[in-house]
Amino acid sequence: MSYIITDKCTKCGACLDVCPVKCIYSTPEDDQYYVNPEECIECATCVPECPVNAIFNSVFVELNAEYDFSKASNKAE
Ligand code: SF4
Ligand code: SF4
Repeated sequence: MSYIITDKCTKCGACLDVCPVKCIYSTPEDDQYYVNPEECIECATCVPECPVNAIFNSVFVELNAEYDFSKASNKAE
């Protein structure tokens, strides 16, 4: 697990300055930054720094992927 950055990223660079392990990367060709999951220590320091709320814990990706849809309803509760 690690933190992930979505396509809402504007490449403002604010998260780069606060990340203690400097694990946020991109190339000039990229439209957004990416977190290296091998290096991220899940400290969450970057999350409140992002002005467009583009950074999330990847646990939510895993929760969605592992959800048991067989017992769930797609009607509004
Ligand atoms: S959670 Fe911490 S280590 Fe991971 S990208 Fe954000 S600031 Fe860096
Ligand atoms: S703070 Fe948010 S918008 Fe700025 S570079 Fe980081 S992820 Fe992208």
